[in-house]
Amino acid sequence: LFNEVLDLKAGKIRIYCRVRPLLPGEPKDQSTVDYIGENGSILIVNSLRKGKDSKKVFSFDKVFGPSDHSCSSAICAEQVYTNIQPLIRSILDGYNVCIFAYGQTGSGKTYTMSGYDLNTKETWGVNFRAICGLFQISKTRAEVIEYKLGVQMVEIYNEQVRDLLVIDGSTKRYPFEFYIFNNTQLNGLTVPDASWVPVSSTQDVLDLIRIGQKNRIVGPTAFNERSSRSHSILTVHVHGKELVSGSIFKGSLNLVDLAGSERVDKSKVQGDRLKEAQYINRSLSALGDVISALAQKSTHIPYRNSKLTQILQNSLGGHAKTLMLVHISPEPKAIGETMSTLKFAERVA
Ligand code: ADP
Ligand code: MG
Repeated sequence: LFNEVLDLKAGKIRIYCRVRPLLPGEPKDQSTVDYIGENGSILIVNSLRKGKDSKKVFSFDKVFGPSDHSCSSAICAEQVYTNIQPLIRSILDGYNVCIFAYGQTGSGKTYTMSGYDLNTKETWGVNFRAICGLFQISKTRAEVIEYKLGVQMVEIYNEQVRDLLVIDGSTKRYPFEFYIFNNTQLNGLTVPDASWVPVSSTQDVLDLIRIGQKNRIVGPTAFNERSSRSHSILTVHVHGKELVSGSIFKGSLNLVDLAGSERVDKSKVQGDRLKEAQYINRSLSALGDVISALAQKSTHIPYRNSKLTQILQNSLGGHAKTLMLVHISPEPKAIGETMSTLKFAERVA
């Protein structure tokens, strides 16, 4: 069943598109999304264009429509996860999986990845469902494989990588006594300096994520502002040991909430805002370049062009499995960004 839902081949890039509903205060009945097909197609109406140029069809592996009429947000979160779950299973077989949320600020990336409310399970996003899934599936294999899981959480802001699992932005690790892994054990990690915290339950992970999210709030900038301009990467490292043979394997899950993809009008912003925008632009196009080079089986994959692609290098490639969740807002005023988001997705598909 699951193989029908999702092609599980390694090295393949899968693209899902999620359309958020129109929110209160946005013009009703003016959605730019005209039609969503069962086969993963989506028809966009661009009122800025005339005639046949005003309609364009894009095709992806799957499109999730807005949740306002068709289903409650909890059911939708469940549906999105159902279509991801097979990838989660393969992490426990030793694959590296990367799941990206791409889209302009306000398009629903964090809603998909983190969910709506941490305290209400039904509204959990991909992050928590995936991590619960890892624990659940690993338990069913406990007689054959011993699994150890560890979590890392970093943020990339203006091409600088910051460990999010620290106390109050200091360099102290959190939880301090948990930082027990030395560098040899960290071998294979691309951010060996960031805290790597062993976890044994979903609750452990929830606690860590709360710390990580708190650490994203820095200075006077509000969480939403800052979070929309940095990439956050939540990594779950899986270490498996086959009990009979004693052989060891590794897998990993990278959950990436990307910085907002909107282009910033250079004539309107300056200073820090302009710098941020340029860093984001560069790193998102570096990501696009890597993914499309991989999709085209190119011999040179330009990982070195951004911190994001360097960090994820082992998780993006021939033996890894990549899923891009592109997000769009159906608001008429977002049409420019919607078109460029969908074109980005089409380019990497
Ligand atoms: P982003 O992380 O891309 O900036 P958010 O996830 O913060 O966007 O979403 C922007 C707003 O839209 C939030 O108020 C969020 O609750 C709402 N929203 C996003 N996606 C959905 C959805 N699928 N269903 C209902 N509300 C949504
Ligand atoms: Mg966000």
